[in-house]
Order: sequence, then structure tokens, then C-alpha cells
Amino acid sequence: MIDAVQKGFFNLLSQSAVLKRLASRYGMASPDSFARRFIAGETVEEAIDAARRLQANGFDLTLDYLGESVRTHQEADAAAREYAHLVDVLMQSGIERNISLKLTQLGASVDRATCVDNLRRILETAEKHAFFVRIDMESSAYTDLTLDIFETLWNRGHQNLGVVIQAALKRSEADVRRVTALGGRIRLVKGAYKEPPDVAYARKADVDAAFVRLMHILLDSGQYPAIATHDPKMIDATLAYAEAKGLPPTHYEFQMLYGVRRDLQRALSSDGYRVRLYVPFGREWFPYFMRRLGERPANVAFVVRAILGDRGPA
Ligand SMILES: Cc1cc2nc3c(=O)[nH]c(=O)nc-3n(C[C@H](O)[C@H](O)[C@H](O)COP(=O)(O)OP(=O)(O)OC[C@H]3O[C@@H](n4cnc5c(N)ncnc54)[C@H](O)[C@@H]3O)c2cc1C
Repeated sequence: MIDAVQKGFFNLLSQSAVLKRLASRYGMASPDSFARRFIAGETVEEAIDAARRLQANGFDLTLDYLGESVRTHQEADAAAREYAHLVDVLMQSGIERNISLKLTQLGASVDRATCVDNLRRILETAEKHAFFVRIDMESSAYTDLTLDIFETLWNRGHQNLGVVIQAALKRSEADVRRVTALGGRIRLVKGAYKEPPDVAYARKADVDAAFVRLMHILLDSGQYPAIATHDPKMIDATLAYAEAKGLPPTHYEFQMLYGVRRDLQRALSSDGYRVRLYVPFGREWFPYFMRRLGERPANVAFVVRAILGDRGPA
């Protein structure tokens, strides 16, 4: 319950133009500015540098060029062009060929056809260079549309494509079965958005129980699921289930966010598990950053300390 209120509060703050202006001015201004804990940089060059460092330490990666909720065809087309360009740049940089994107960045809230066309253009460029493309999942207002677009493009042969399912949504078991029946790859998350109680579980215990149920279905599916969480209980449950089923660590991967629980990232990786880090970058980092604050109140203290000049480890 407190969790839902907290998410709602930060969701509201993320819509504040004043806060966005202030954060944008100070959050990434210098190498130790507060937002850099969670955002790899504002430019693709900074993201590539961060990615190289992480890769050298044994992590797999997915890069996210931040942006969401574009309102016009022009903005959506521009984002699709940026993504296609990103694929080219990443290809030349030699880092791992894996990107994540949001459909509202490609025009999902403008119209479906624009969004499908933009995603198709990115997938065609990505396929030429053997890139994997993951569609992030946004609020429940977009779940049907996202799965529908995923399925449309998958059925047209674009199968270098995966999607995300949120354990918090009550509908998710049916969605997991729909995507795995197609042969699609799923990243399982708890869900970062404030949702109405008729569509989502409000209590953390219910979200966690759903996460474990869905994780079982996914590991049984054999479709190389990504278990994306920083929750040691969810990770232990995954390891225990994989062991009970005799699944080697090559049958699934863990995913975590850049800058979150770096201790756990290192521990899992050095124990021989595959860990993929989600590396966000770009100028439009504010909504993503606010969702990270909403997940953990201690992050607010981290930001305040950073602003006040005490930049001790967090
Ligand atoms: C790779 C990846 C991709 C994701 N993609 C999506 C997506 O497409 N759609 C979507 O809705 N959500 C996405 N999420 C976010 C996800 O839904 C959760 O909001 C987020 O991962 C927090 O949940 P948790 O599983 O870590 O568990 P929680 O129970 O929230 O947290 C468990 C523990 O992890 C640590 N922790 C969690 N979050 C933070 C944080 N922000 N800062 C510091 N510590 C933290 C804390 O120690 C906490 O006690 C993604 C998450 C990951 C890891």
C-alpha cells in the first residue's frame, strides 16, 4: 500500500516541469552529479564508455536511449531515426548488440500505424547487424497495444524481438502464456508504474508471489527468460527452482538496472551467472530517474546528499 502511494507521488513529481528543468540543469552537469548514479550519460559516446567498462567486468548489456511519451509524428520519426543511427554506432563500437526501447517513444500514443512502422524500420536495421531488440513495458494503458504490436511484428518474421511482462498486473499469466506460445522471449519485472487496483496487485507480497509463479512458467518454457530484479528473495527463488529442475545457468539470465545493487550484480556474476545490465542514456532521463527514486526512498537521501556535497557510497 505504502509502495503504491510512493509510486503515485513520484509519478506526480515526474510530471512537474519546474522539477524537470532544475534536475536537467544540475543532475548530469558534472562527472559526479546525482543522476549519473542511474544514467550512463547524455550522449551515446558516454554510454559506450560505460558499456565498455561493464563489459570488461563480465556483464552483458542492453542500451536504452531514453525517451517516452512523444506527442507528434515528427518526434516519433525523429526517435526512430535516432535508434536506427544508434544501431549503426553501436555496431561500429564493438559493444554488445542489444537495445531496449519504449513504444510511446516511437509514437504509440500518436497512432498505432506510425509506431508499427517506426519499430519495423528499427528492426530491419537491427536485423542486418544481428541486434536483439527488447520492447520495454509501460503503464497498463499500453499493455494491450504493446503485446499486439509485438505479435504483429513477430508474425511478420521480426523475431530478434522480445518483450517485458510485469508481475504486478493481474492479467500477466495469460500474457506470459501468449508470448511463450509464440516462442518469444520475456523479461519478467515487478512493474514500475502506479496502477489502479482493478488491474494490479497493491500489496508487495502479492506482487512477489505473482513474480515467483510467472518465473516458474518462464523457466519451464525453455525460451531463455530474463529474470529482472534486485530482490534477493526473487533471485534465490529463481536459483532454487532452476536447480530443482536441473536447468544450467545458460538457460536464463538475470537483469538489473545500471547503478542499482551493484554489490548483488557483482556477486551473481562472479558466481558464474549471466547478468545483463540495463544501461540508460540520453537527455530525456528525468521520468526514468523519477521512477528509480520512487522505488526506494533511500535514493532521495542519496540525491540530497549528492546535492549538498557529501558523495559517500550509497
Ligand atoms: C533490467 C530491468 C528492466 C526493467 N524494465 C522494466 C519495464 O520494461 N517496465 C517496467 O514497468 N519496469 C521495468 N523494470 C523495473 C521493475 O519493474 C521494478 O520497478 C524494479 O526493478 C524494482 O523492483 P525489484 O524487482 O528490484 O524489487 P523491489 O522489491 O522493488 O526491490 C528489491 C530491492 O532492490 C533494491 N532496489 C530496487 N529498486 C531500487 C532502486 N531504484 N534503487 C536502489 N535500490 C533498489 C532495494 O535494495 C530493494 O529492497 C525493469 C527492471 C530491471 C532490473
